[in-house]
Amino acid sequence: MLRHDGRGDSLPSDKCSSCGMNVGVYCCKDCFSPKLSCQMCVVDAHAHLPVHRVEVKVEWHLFQNVTLKDLGLRIQLGHDVGESCLLPIRAFNNDFVLIDTQAIHPIAIYFCGCTKAQSHIQQLLCMGWFPATTSDPKTTATFGVLRQFHILSFESKVSAYEFYHSLVRLTDNTGLLKWKDQYEAFMRMVHEFRHLKMLK
Ligand SMILES: [Zn+2]
Ligand SMILES: [Zn+2]
Ligand SMILES: [Zn+2]
Repeated sequence: MLRHDGRGDSLPSDKCSSCGMNVGVYCCKDCFSPKLSCQMCVVDAHAHLPVHRVEVKVEWHLFQNVTLKDLGLRIQLGHDVGESCLLPIRAFNNDFVLIDTQAIHPIAIYFCGCTKAQSHIQQLLCMGWFPATTSDPKTTATFGVLRQFHILSFESKVSAYEFYHSLVRLTDNTGLLKWKDQYEAFMRMVHEFRHLKMLK
């Protein structure tokens, strides 16, 4: 456990484990073999994994949470990963939040605005993300977290309030970060998801 709180296998080198050129200060808590990487490498490595949780080394043995959005990860919907869109449309207010099984993530996403593009809602659903509203969506939940709550509510009788606030604590257990409360949006998505599952 202590090993996972520190630099692990990256001792004694300060270099990025991927490129070996820049200083490695970022560590992913969800990658299989976490090693210290530089900002560019950690963003590149997470183009397919936008819901991983990353930490930055601020002192010799002290790490703190940082979001992939702050590091520069941009998600382009409607195209394959790595492909660029001719008419990207930034999410409303650049204030997009994704609720997942491990945490709540602020995410920088761009919708596809090409002539044959699907609606914004369809683009989100194609990614497995369920939007909280049908116009200018700013909050989504992954199908995974909705399915997890669906099953947990049967087996453990956990309430949506307890489940949602557990996710808030998993994201930041200090309570120092001020989050916009997404509980109402989460409840709306849960109700719609359950209704659609019933109709399926
Ligand atoms: Zn690097
Ligand atoms: Zn990762
Ligand atoms: Zn496009």
